[in-house]
Amino acid sequence: MNRHGLKSIVYLAACVCLAAPVHAEWVRRVTDGIMGTRITVELWTEDKEKADRAIDAVLDEMRHIDESMSTYKPTSEVSLVNAGAADGPMHISKELFDLLVTAKEYSVITDGAFDITYASVGYLYDFRKHIHPSEAQIGKALPAVDYRHVMLDPKNQTVQFSQHGVRIDLGGIAKGYSVDRGIDVLKSFGFTRAFVSAGGDSRIIGDRFGKPWMVGIRDPRKGEGEVITRIPLVDAAISTSGDYERFFEEGGVRYHHIIDPHTGHSASKVRSATVIGPYATRTDGLSKTAFVLGPEKAMEIYNRIDDIDAIIVKLDGTVIYSKGMRPARETAPAN
Ligand code: ADP
Ligand code: MG
Repeated sequence: MNRHGLKSIVYLAACVCLAAPVHAEWVRRVTDGIMGTRITVELWTEDKEKADRAIDAVLDEMRHIDESMSTYKPTSEVSLVNAGAADGPMHISKELFDLLVTAKEYSVITDGAFDITYASVGYLYDFRKHIHPSEAQIGKALPAVDYRHVMLDPKNQTVQFSQHGVRIDLGGIAKGYSVDRGIDVLKSFGFTRAFVSAGGDSRIIGDRFGKPWMVGIRDPRKGEGEVITRIPLVDAAISTSGDYERFFEEGGVRYHHIIDPHTGHSASKVRSATVIGPYATRTDGLSKTAFVLGPEKAMEIYNRIDDIDAIIVKLDGTVIYSKGMRPARETAPAN
């Protein structure tokens, strides 16, 4: 064998050694109870111990977000803002400030359908205890619902409410945000193939070795395992909002956890809405829109936004898809 041939064999042997790690596997951990929901983290690793440390760090990050943003915790930063921001500007953390800026941006994009001040009325509902406000209570609280009441000063990093009675709740965006932060944590550990979800909000990095991840979209009127479709995803986030999540019925009315900021009532114009996009904060924030604005108006907005797609289950059970998800012949311009 000539020298060149020997070199090739040595090179080939080195490649085989590099390509065959000692032991590589998918590691998956499911944790209940953070942000009142189920957290799933799954990743591909050649180092189980490092994977466990990374997943611990993801969960710590999520606990931190829960501690600072939950309105159920009276000591959270958001609760302190709710208690004091009507009295004057309050200095807040950069993290909360940035998320409030993002929340306002989503209010503008969605014509006010997404509005964290929904909580000015929303706090009067308790879906677990089947409590809803009377028309008089809603009428009294409703003027405080308007994202423009939240005044943000980037120079001093402060928030102030323009009137008393305003409350904010980040429940419509915090889970998506925590998923994005979880992905950031995994990336900082060097992982390149992973899945993180918090309740209905998920994000994926990488693929499953040449194949996409398949994410099921639940059928809103059937059990958890029943899906209307499965979407192949690589490097994407997906959020589903459904009227089946937290609800009760009384006198033929379905009271559930997405509130129309214009009326203070449950927003019931669709059964479910799924948004696909680059970040879970974004897909979470935008998935509420269809409930408030209805399928047609919401789809118009979704189609206008370049980096997202959507699937809506209408009240009659029919399913509609955004432009990017329809077969090419349906979206081709007529000539
Ligand atoms: P999940 O909480 O399971 O992620 P969703 O993503 O559908 O469910 O978000 C519902 C939550 O959004 C509600 O529990 C509430 O905290 C919040 N919310 C309700 N109505 C609005 C609204 N109009 N704008 C912004 N957030 C809302
Ligand atoms: Mg959500």
